[in-house]
Amino acid sequence: MPRTIAAFDRIGEENAFAVLARATALSAQGRDIVNLGIGQPDFSTPPHIVEAAVKALRDGHHGYTPATGILAVREAIAADLARRYDVTVSPDTVLIVPGGKVTMFMAILMFGEPGADILYPDPGFPIYRSMIEFTGARPIPVPIREQNGFAFSAEETLALITPATRLLILNSPANPTGGVTPKAQIDKLVTGLERHPDVAVLSDEIYDQMLYDGEAHVCLLTYPSIRDRLILLNGWSKTYAMTGWRMGYSVWPKSLHEFSRKLAVNSYSCVNAAAQWAGLAALTGPQDSIAEMVAEFDRRRQIVVAGLNQLPGISCATPKGAFYAFPNIARTGWKAKALASSLLEDAGVAVVGGPDFGILGEGYLRLSYANSAENIRKALDRMGEFLRSRKAA
Ligand code: PLP
Repeated sequence: MPRTIAAFDRIGEENAFAVLARATALSAQGRDIVNLGIGQPDFSTPPHIVEAAVKALRDGHHGYTPATGILAVREAIAADLARRYDVTVSPDTVLIVPGGKVTMFMAILMFGEPGADILYPDPGFPIYRSMIEFTGARPIPVPIREQNGFAFSAEETLALITPATRLLILNSPANPTGGVTPKAQIDKLVTGLERHPDVAVLSDEIYDQMLYDGEAHVCLLTYPSIRDRLILLNGWSKTYAMTGWRMGYSVWPKSLHEFSRKLAVNSYSCVNAAAQWAGLAALTGPQDSIAEMVAEFDRRRQIVVAGLNQLPGISCATPKGAFYAFPNIARTGWKAKALASSLLEDAGVAVVGGPDFGILGEGYLRLSYANSAENIRKALDRMGEFLRSRKAA
């Protein structure tokens, strides 16, 4: 057995993929499983985007592209951010990456080392903590509380910053809670960060076009005082239903962009050329598919929240963004992971236990409503029947 570095004892993963694998295995055995476990839109990529990739292949775009991405795509990103947020972004600071995750991987690698602290949301996307631990840095959870509408509290976040803090990870709209941090909190947080000029900020805005109830997204690029240390994470996966294309992008401070380019050169060289041309078509073509998808998610959001609040022992706050509900199950008497597992094995409903997103996820489940209204109703019926008939394990 070759001897690998000890860091592999610390790296984690995403349990939502394990839930998906188990749900698929049960389906293959003939079980009828409703999958509310996985975080990807149940829509197809719009046809004009698919056509752009096919055309790119037919036109001979078969070779390497610049490591940072095709210039036209980086320009389109800058134009899109200017149109949506009225910010100036130089295409020279944009990096096209194979999926949103790669930006967090790079950013955490840049700042994580023994002796460094990295602040990340708990509950939050599991890869943040996993990668922080991999680098040997100390993961410092920023509590994301139900009583705050699952938003970041500026005060609580700022209080966790010490001289060892190197990076703060923010995520709004958030996975797994659907929480959206209000502008007032972000204003306060940015003002507080002005006192900590050495702390870099990674803002994961992958759900920035998935907000409800007329809520407007607050992009961290709009705060000039932190632009020189802000890394923006975004991508095509959720907005254009393109999870399998592996298309993400980041905006870096000029000084860090060169490091990110080198990490790209040292790992994947460049993102699949045809996928980049598809990404260009997504940004420059009609945007109606986004509003249509979000309207459908909104409809399902109402169904899932109303349904969950009818279930014994469960209460669910109304999420303001993304496509997740994060019901509180404390009063059922079940531990979250045991409930998630029994729901899958015995009731045929795949959901993810809150603890898969951090210690503060205990007492919650994550349900993705990226599934049909009919299947969501079926899942809610099954959950109700299960909770009424089974004692907590
Ligand atoms: N950031 C958050 C908060 C996510 O929920 C996800 C995916 O679920 C990602 C990043 C990664 O997206 P991608 O599939 O583009 O790597």
